Amino acid sequence: MTKQLGTTCVQGGYRPGDAEPRQIPIYQSTTWKYDTSEHMGKLFDLEEEGYFYTRLQNPTNDFVAAKICELEGGSAAMLTSSGQAANFFAIFNIAGAGDHVVASSAIYGGTYNLLAHTMQRMGLTCTFVSPDCTDEELEAAFQPNTKAVFGETISNPALAVLDIERFAQAAHEHGVPLIVDNTFPTPINCRPIEWGADIVTHSTTKYMDGHAAAIGGCIIDSGKFDWNAHADKFPGLTTPDESYHGVVYTQKFGLDKAYITKATSQLMRDFGSIQSPQHAYLLNLGLESLHVRMPQHCKNGQAIAEFLNEHPKISFVRYCGLKNDPYHELAQKYLPNGSCGVVSFGFTGGRTAAETFMKNLKIAAIATHVADARTCVLHPANATHRQMNDEELIACGISPDMVRLSCGIESTEDLLADIAQALNTVK
Ligand code: PLP
Repeated sequence: MTKQLGTTCVQGGYRPGDAEPRQIPIYQSTTWKYDTSEHMGKLFDLEEEGYFYTRLQNPTNDFVAAKICELEGGSAAMLTSSGQAANFFAIFNIAGAGDHVVASSAIYGGTYNLLAHTMQRMGLTCTFVSPDCTDEELEAAFQPNTKAVFGETISNPALAVLDIERFAQAAHEHGVPLIVDNTFPTPINCRPIEWGADIVTHSTTKYMDGHAAAIGGCIIDSGKFDWNAHADKFPGLTTPDESYHGVVYTQKFGLDKAYITKATSQLMRDFGSIQSPQHAYLLNLGLESLHVRMPQHCKNGQAIAEFLNEHPKISFVRYCGLKNDPYHELAQKYLPNGSCGVVSFGFTGGRTAAETFMKNLKIAAIATHVADARTCVLHPANATHRQMNDEELIACGISPDMVRLSCGIESTEDLLADIAQALNTVK
């Protein structure tokens, strides 16, 4: 039976048998007991599937990862301790020292730092391209050692919409996968795999949890990228892994499971960024209402963007649901049912006006968070993107007076009234 996304949100991933708990059990155990060391040896050799130590895998996490996998239409998925860990693992699983990545410049500041600085110290370089670059500029960014293309469906906080099909096509022409961070729209509003993305990542800390309760991340593989067809580029997947007695991931696990099995058995083993089963449980509670919450986030985002768009103290509004937004056309293609609840805007009165507005809000709270049931507001140049100089900020589509408002699921009328009264305090 084909299920709608709402049914998958509520019941996907975990299917209890007769007389089993209806709610996902929390496996609060670091370790598993076995009757023979031969049995355990088989698990260590990846000869048999099973759990032995929560640093690598835990059933609670796997139930929730399976639900997100179904929502995104993937072939395999894993939870990570954070969205940062998800993006790091997604890239590092197929690229290392001496390799190169092409990334959209309009991405979350933490991911930018990861690619521009931290991974560079590991020997991996990155060329950033504007999501609006021409085909020629995109083509010019590739190098013989390029191993992946990375972008965000809707970028945080610039709210640029990625032309997924165009970036996927360019990636595939160069024999590499497209990795898309789908945190902002969630699979309720966009399923990047349907548009050609090969790997999808999430900061589940955002809408998926939705209640600011649990940091987490997720990686979903489409199972569609043919690692064997480009075996020379991806030896980690197509040649023996000596740390597992010579297993070849693509041979042993097939294209649908190779990428996630390698990330689980190698990267989780060595870096240990597993999500705690308690967090996975909380994440699942959030997922159960994702399809109900997203439309209200979008309704509030649209109403507030339209209100700000007409306001004389506001210099610009970025929300792809607005007809005059530069990404409106792409949004109609990729996000026909709505985008997210995040609206970015600037003030005719500049940075000072932004600061006055923020401190006078009564319902929206200043928080380093986004995509929460409660409305939050942030000044990226002062917070998440503080490490960037003005040039870097502008390359990411962020001006110093830009405020990012993450509309929660409160009543639309109350949010509009709060914004109107805070704007009245701005000179
Ligand atoms: N990706 C996006 C689009 C984000 O907005 C964030 C955080 O805001 C991250 C990744 C990192 O996620 P986390 O904070 O869960 O590590």
